[in-house]
Amino acid sequence: MELTKQTYSAQETKQMAQQLGQSIDKGILITLQGDLGAGKTTFAQGLAKGLGVEKTVNSPTFTISKIYQGRLNLIHIDAYRLEGLHQDLGFDEFFDSQWVCVVEWPKYIEDILPKSRIDILITRIDEYSRLFHFSCDNTLSYVLEGII
Ligand code: ADP
Ligand code: MG
Repeated sequence: MELTKQTYSAQETKQMAQQLGQSIDKGILITLQGDLGAGKTTFAQGLAKGLGVEKTVNSPTFTISKIYQGRLNLIHIDAYRLEGLHQDLGFDEFFDSQWVCVVEWPKYIEDILPKSRIDILITRIDEYSRLFHFSCDNTLSYVLEGII
């Protein structure tokens, strides 16, 4: 399934992501692609809110991954600093049924990512506007129905 949505403010992006977070199950992997400043972390913040996470999600500057407790637990991975690093990162356990997992810069760990996932590509249109392109296989399309 493919879906495109435009938002016109960071707030609107968070609301859209929050809705997704409210309709999601554990065991779901979401990847976020887009340039620096596209809105990947902003999206992750809204998603976390929808999962019932109370702590603020931020870009993990020195850590690769952060875990947040909520109604569903979230693991937020920023793979940016893993470029060119080919080693067992121990992420496999996060791609199972215990977690909702969000990955920024998925291209750097592409070879270890499960195929069943929701991919989101964010394109900056202008200062406050972003285009979100969602794609997933049909078994996960029910997740996107919450934001149509
Ligand atoms: P990334 O994680 O992709 O590097 P961030 O989410 O950290 O990006 O930053 C996105 C920046 O763009 C934030 O400062 C946010 O306020 C701003 N912004 C402006 N409009 C939007 C929008 N429609 N959606 C998301 N972020 C937006
Ligand atoms: Mg970020």
